[in-house]
Amino acid sequence: MTQQTKFLLDEGRMPTHWYNIAADLPQPLPAVLHPGTLQPIGPADLEPLFPMELILQEVSTQREIPIPEPVREVFKLWRPSPLIRARRLEKMLGTPAKIYYKYEGVSPAGSHKPNTAVPQAWYNAQAGVKKLTTETGAGQWGSSLAFAGSLFGIDVQVFQVRVSYDQKPYRRALMETYGARCVASPSNLTNSGRAILARDPDHPGSLGIAISEAVEVAATHDDTKYALGSVLNHVLLHQTIVGQEAIAQMEMAGDDPDVIIGCTGGGSNFSGIVLPFLGMQLRGGRRRRIVAVEPAACPSLTRGKYAYDFGDTAHLTPLTKMHTLGSTFTPPGFHAGGLRYHGMAPLVSHLKELGLIEATAYQQNACFEAGVMFARAEGIVPAPEANHAVKGAIVEALRCKAEDRPQTILFNLCGHGHFDMTAYSNYTAGKLLDQQYDEAELAMALSGLPSVPA
Ligand SMILES: *Cc1c(COP(=O)(O)O)cnc(C)c1O
Repeated sequence: MTQQTKFLLDEGRMPTHWYNIAADLPQPLPAVLHPGTLQPIGPADLEPLFPMELILQEVSTQREIPIPEPVREVFKLWRPSPLIRARRLEKMLGTPAKIYYKYEGVSPAGSHKPNTAVPQAWYNAQAGVKKLTTETGAGQWGSSLAFAGSLFGIDVQVFQVRVSYDQKPYRRALMETYGARCVASPSNLTNSGRAILARDPDHPGSLGIAISEAVEVAATHDDTKYALGSVLNHVLLHQTIVGQEAIAQMEMAGDDPDVIIGCTGGGSNFSGIVLPFLGMQLRGGRRRRIVAVEPAACPSLTRGKYAYDFGDTAHLTPLTKMHTLGSTFTPPGFHAGGLRYHGMAPLVSHLKELGLIEATAYQQNACFEAGVMFARAEGIVPAPEANHAVKGAIVEALRCKAEDRPQTILFNLCGHGHFDMTAYSNYTAGKLLDQQYDEAELAMALSGLPSVPA
């Protein structure tokens, strides 16, 4: 008898709704505050940036939110995505654990990001929006929104973090192929960008700065709105299609995960796989360990402060309570560009504070070592960001081996690394540095947190 390795759902079993964990939280999320008045903001405050349907999803407490039919039609290009048992990796590690991964690299852009780019572009198109601005770190989000914009006739302008613009010309080429316009950030197109360049013409950029630029353009143009690829509640909501499929596929496999793992930059792919499982637990189901893995060079969940902070560097966004390294903190230029964000999704931070999830951090060489091992066992070359989840899964599998416990591990392989081969070459050549962030800069950035009365 052959043992099954790949678990596929047919199109008819694609989820019809997104799962909203706000309906099941033991305590609600802390309010989002207006930066001037420090009072909770209302839906109208967000209208310059987002269409109303997305704002309503942002604040909704309804458990299930229907996925529009035209969005599901697009999803059929790559969804349901496969769940695969990593039998060769298990063997290589000599672990009694079973390792499963949900593979999101099958999307056109090569990551989980189109799961939210497509609905965001669709809701904007329905609201008559002609242009979307956004930021991109590694280029994954920019290419996903560029793809989604091309489907619904929306013009997309992407502020790409300078280091990634220089290091990843092919991600830019992909965005331009889908019809988007790319600008290296910090740029001369915005007040926020010009202010940074005046102080440091060679600034490497950061997600916080690129967000400021994209928000500024959207806020100052009537026909333009802004789209964010992570962090916000509605983005995490859209990603829950991943975990819902995984639940059905784990059932097909006749297994149930004891540990669920995802990498965290802003928290969206992690939330996507984790929230539907966590929802079952909050409604009385069994408790599973849930582990977020972040880079040691940008450790918001493990080393950041849980406090109100801005989402961007120029302080144009509302204040949200989250684990933050400080909005002026510039993480070192390591290769998992998608994880170089100073903050964390408020929802993921809240779950951490409630003790519902764990967090851990690893250096990039350890993560690339894990990624190369995975590639040699399973054939898929993970994105540098996804290597953090692979590393987390391998650590758990080796723990199972040491403790002789045959547990079941599930992780989100959130993207492939085909656009990141320069990073792999550097790793192979021994040229990858385990970057330490600047402790003094972190202390300074944290001392500059806005003061919000309790
Ligand atoms: C953007 C990205 C991330 C980081 O964002 P999250 O919101 O934390 O998921 C991680 N992995 C890949 C492949 C990405 O494209």
